[in-house]
Amino acid sequence: MILAMLLLTSTTITKVMAQNKVKQTAGRDQLGAFAPKFAELNDDVLFGEVWSRTDKLGLRDRSLITVTTLVSMGITDSSLIYHLQEAKKNGITRDEIAEVLTHVAFYAGWPKAWAALRLAKEVWADETTASDDRSAFEHEMFFPIGQPNDAFAEYFTGQSYLAALSDTQIPVYNVTFEPGCRNNWHIHHANKGGGQILICVAGEGWYQEWGKPARKLLPGDVVNIPVGVKHWHGAAADSWFAHLAIEVPGEKSRNEWLESVKDEDYYKLK
Ligand code: MN
Repeated sequence: MILAMLLLTSTTITKVMAQNKVKQTAGRDQLGAFAPKFAELNDDVLFGEVWSRTDKLGLRDRSLITVTTLVSMGITDSSLIYHLQEAKKNGITRDEIAEVLTHVAFYAGWPKAWAALRLAKEVWADETTASDDRSAFEHEMFFPIGQPNDAFAEYFTGQSYLAALSDTQIPVYNVTFEPGCRNNWHIHHANKGGGQILICVAGEGWYQEWGKPARKLLPGDVVNIPVGVKHWHGAAADSWFAHLAIEVPGEKSRNEWLESVKDEDYYKLK
């Protein structure tokens, strides 16, 4: 009977905090007229009493058990989709469900895990990992990300990467910033000539000169940074960003690195 009730597809499990009860109406909604006792047992006993005993075992653990049990029985229909959705709501991450189903595959059977993984992939489709975001950005960008920009890390907030595109004649670098990453305020000095040109290639970023409002940067934008002007550049808080950096040749050109861009100034940019 319990197993049969587990198979019901149903509406959202709602926690009623005051009573700490799980409210379930799927039984009555779907089978109330046809099988009223079954509907009552599903809503009031399975969910109302068993799932509700969260002081004994939390919803996250109950979701893990339920998903494992369904997959073990080879139940990979809409009831599994429902319980995968509940598992996600109850805090199981994409990486965790992949690990759970990989583990279950060895005990319950490979084809069952295959079927379940295909459903889980859909349920967790909107949840990406940091490495997904990085590879998506890499695919969108024409130039390589390169290597972690360790040599200049002390002048950056967050992680940046550097790829040398041209290292003879005029040096050209592709600089990639993770979301939230930006360089410190700095000045490109030179006795004659000098300055820097930025050509934005992917993502969304910011450029700001001291005392002026920040300028939003999108792919294709070009920034001409005059010699001697204090400024910073970097990613938007919620986006990867990359620009080519071209050092304009000059006599005795050098960079002066200054203070970091304060969080309270950076995170209010919109
Ligand atoms: Mn600069």
